[in-house]
Formats: sequence, structure tokens, C-alpha cells
Amino acid sequence: MTERSLQTRLVHGGKQPAYEGGQAVNPPIVRASTVCFDSVAEQQGFRARRETDRLFTYGARGTPTNFALEDVVSELEGAYRTRLFPTGLAAVGMALLAYLKPGDHVLMADGVYEPVRHLAHSFLAPYNIGCTFFAADGSDVADKFQANTRMVYAECPGSLLYEMCDVPELARQAHAHGALLACDNTWGSGVHYRPLALGADVSIMAATKYLSGHSDVMMGCVATTQAAWAPLNERCDAFGMTVSPDDAYLVLRGTRTLAARLQMHEQHGLEVAHWLMARSEVASVFHPALPHHPGHALWQRDATGSNGLLSFELHPRYDKAAAIRLIDALKLFGIGASWGGYESLVTLCNVKAARSVAKWEGRGEIIRLHIGLESPEDLMDDLRQAMAAMV
Ligand SMILES: *Cc1c(COP(=O)(O)O)cnc(C)c1O
Repeated sequence: MTERSLQTRLVHGGKQPAYEGGQAVNPPIVRASTVCFDSVAEQQGFRARRETDRLFTYGARGTPTNFALEDVVSELEGAYRTRLFPTGLAAVGMALLAYLKPGDHVLMADGVYEPVRHLAHSFLAPYNIGCTFFAADGSDVADKFQANTRMVYAECPGSLLYEMCDVPELARQAHAHGALLACDNTWGSGVHYRPLALGADVSIMAATKYLSGHSDVMMGCVATTQAAWAPLNERCDAFGMTVSPDDAYLVLRGTRTLAARLQMHEQHGLEVAHWLMARSEVASVFHPALPHHPGHALWQRDATGSNGLLSFELHPRYDKAAAIRLIDALKLFGIGASWGGYESLVTLCNVKAARSVAKWEGRGEIIRLHIGLESPEDLMDDLRQAMAAMV
């Protein structure tokens, strides 16, 4: 055969591995839309199996880089399998879509991440999927089941105030009514809390937070038991849900240090929490590892640790303007939502808007901190000088 033209050689060159040697520690980034096969028979053979088996057949169904991250998440969650999503919120949305249809009803915890409440009002209601909120600690859920309840959606601990619910008991009640239990496990990150081991069917995480750990990538994941897998997997394929392999690589890299980072976040968070409890400006500290926390016994029973998140309530003698002065005076804390990166963050909370079952009246301003990997002494010095700015 005559030598092929440069145009052709440019397209076909460099397709074989260009090196001889060992293997890199980290799985390579595989970027792909099209995946090619050796024969029609091979292509059709893979097609026939791809609804049930995880096969590299098209970029939208994930590349080997995505699969590597899925496997780590499944390991963390004790799950059968995992799917990845562009954000944590997209993961929640797809989990709702996978298991609920018009005419169904979902019971949702009062402590859910606020955009999930928005999703319930803006999407579920107009699509004729009923939604009722139950107390963030799960205490009233038994009275709220309906004949068409198909899912109980919990977040444990709850966002902002860290209410704990009895997930094994929620699972028992959900299953007795023919419903699934789905849990947002972003707080636990699969390290300190594992809903599937406690009886949940579906566990959702914003990998944006601790799994990624560096505040530079958005991602969500849904992990399920074997019995709950098929509807989620089918819906994800139907909607073309996937993530960039570059992002999957970043999150995968974050997971390698997850347990080590969490240990440090936890230690630093507890130091700051105890320091805050002793301050006269502070009316209460919300953190499930503190013995006065209403969910402390459940946390002790079901969790194996905590993280860098805590909220505190200012004494009601300080108004919102004073709380804002405190926040603006902080030098080491970034003013920002989200959390789970290596750095400390602060945000003013609107708990009244974030709860509909719990009545939140006559309380002080609530400030949420994410305690990062900085020295806790420096963070406490910063908080001390910022509190002085309130008066
Ligand atoms: C941040 C967060 C989400 C959403 O994650 P994004 O990646 O920001 O969309 C979901 N649940 C909880 C508890 C969160 O904190």
C-alpha cells in the first residue's frame, strides 16, 4: 500500500499507547464521546448488555475515569452501584424523577438543603407529585404517610441546624408503606455516616463538598442498593446524565485524602464549637457531637464522627445588623455558601425560610461556619476580634 496522506495520518496517528513501562498511580483521564468497536458483532454484543452491565460504549454513559469514581463512591456508601451528576442538586432532582411519577407522594424532611425545598415547590407540585414536609427529627412522620406515598426523602443531619432523624426507623416505616427511603448524605460523605447500611435504599451526595474537597469542582452522586438500581440507571440514560471525565478525575483525587481531611475538619470544628459555647455573645451552638444537641444520642448510635460544619445562634440582644458586622469583620473566613473545601467559610442563615414544620420565632441570628484546615487558634482569634465589632 502506498503511504497515506498527511491528512489521514494526522487523524489516525498516535492511537496506540506511546510508552512502555509501569502504570501511573492514578487512573488516566479518558475523554470520549464516540467509542469504536472491532466489529459490528462486538458493537451489537455490548449494546445488548449495556442496560444492565457497566460498559464503555458511549461518552454519555461514562468513561473509565467516571467508572473509577463511581466505584469509589459505591465503596464509601456500601452501595451496589453509583451514578454521577453535574451538581449535587441535579443528583437530588434525578433521584426524585427516577422513583416518582405524577400522582405519587413524597414525604420530605424539614431540614433539607433549601434548593430541594424550592425543587419541591417549583417542580413536584406542578407535575402533580404531592409533597408533605415532616419534622427534621422525623418525630411526626408516622402520621403523614398517604396511600400514594412512594418515597421518604431525608437529610440527616439536617442542613444548618443538624437535626438527626432515626434513619433505621424511617426505613422501617417507609418500607411498611411500600415506599423507598432516600437520604441526602452530603454531611456524612460516606465516611462518618452511611444511610444504606442503616436501611435506606438511595443515598445522595453533593461531591462538590468534602469528596472534591478543594472548592473547584461541582458534582453529585446517587448510590443505591441493588434492588433500587434499575429505575435510577434507566432514568439517567434516558436524560443523558453524565459528567466530564476531567471533573471525575478531580473528585477522584479528592477522595484519596477524604478521610484524612475529615479527621482534621472534625477536630478543628469541635475546638471552635467548644470555644463558641463559652462565649457570652453566643446563645447556642448546633453540632450533633455536642452532648446538649437534641440528636446527640442518635449521632452517637449511627455516626462515627463529624466534620467542620457548625452553626451558632447569637444572643437575641444582637440584631441582624450586628451579625452582619461580625461576619464582615472576619478576616480568615470567606463569606460564601457551599462548604467542604480546605478553607473556612461563614454565612448568615435564614432558618425561618429554611423550615416550614419547625416554628422559628424569637430566636437570635444564626451564623453557619465551615471550619477549614487552618489553625483553630487563628480562627478563634479571628472570631474573637470580629465579635468585638458587634458592639
Ligand atoms: C450543597 C448541597 C447540595 C447540592 O450540591 P451542589 O453540588 O451545590 O448542587 C445538596 N445537599 C446538601 C446537603 C448540600 O449541602
